[in-house]
Amino acid sequence: MTNEAPPRRPVVCVFCGASSGTSPAHLAAARSLAQHLHASGLSLVYGGGTVGLMGEVARTLVSLSGPSSVHGIIPEPLVKYEQKDALNASGHSIDESVYGRTTVVKDMHTRKQMMAKEVIEGGPGGGFVALSGGYGTLEELMEVTTWNQLGIHDMPVVVYNVEGYWDGLLRWVGDAVAHGFVKEGARGILKEARSAEEVVRGLGEYKSAEGRFNLTWEQQ
Ligand code: AMP
Repeated sequence: MTNEAPPRRPVVCVFCGASSGTSPAHLAAARSLAQHLHASGLSLVYGGGTVGLMGEVARTLVSLSGPSSVHGIIPEPLVKYEQKDALNASGHSIDESVYGRTTVVKDMHTRKQMMAKEVIEGGPGGGFVALSGGYGTLEELMEVTTWNQLGIHDMPVVVYNVEGYWDGLLRWVGDAVAHGFVKEGARGILKEARSAEEVVRGLGEYKSAEGRFNLTWEQQ
């Protein structure tokens, strides 16, 4: 018997709503994404919520790949809102066998840095994916997109466009290029996917966009 650690799995960070949306297609897409992550042997890091699309992705992947495949990272002040349906009797922790491992951190910045670090360390095959969501999802998506442009990471960013939910954003990218506010070479940082299968393919086929900077965390 050897003490070798199991091979590291690529890590996918999923940003998505703390709500479920009005169309059942959004919850279905969350489940489908989890099924494809499972089929491709990918791990998930996410915002740690048990509500909305967040909870659906995590629960589905844990049910298929086991608790070690999911890591939720949640700022302490958000626990009472985004884990509200799943806290135990003492009001402090959620069931790992349902949601995977949870880390409670002090603030949003720590969460985002930890999530990005896990994706980067997980290596090729992993990346960032946005399902449908609100302000929080959009903010997180734009942050990792700009981090790619700056060269802080070199991992794919895929938008899972369910029922055209992100059409407005993708149109805006084209407008921003046309108006000279996003460079042509950076247009392709955001990749659109129309199905969970396309999401996983997009992660696997990643090529760096042109003209990126090469910053590091320390220079920020
Ligand atoms: P939403 O898309 O608004 O439902 O939010 C989804 C997730 O984004 C939640 O877990 C929020 O905590 C998170 N989030 C990250 N950054 C922010 C931010 N600056 N403002 C609001 N929510 C945020």
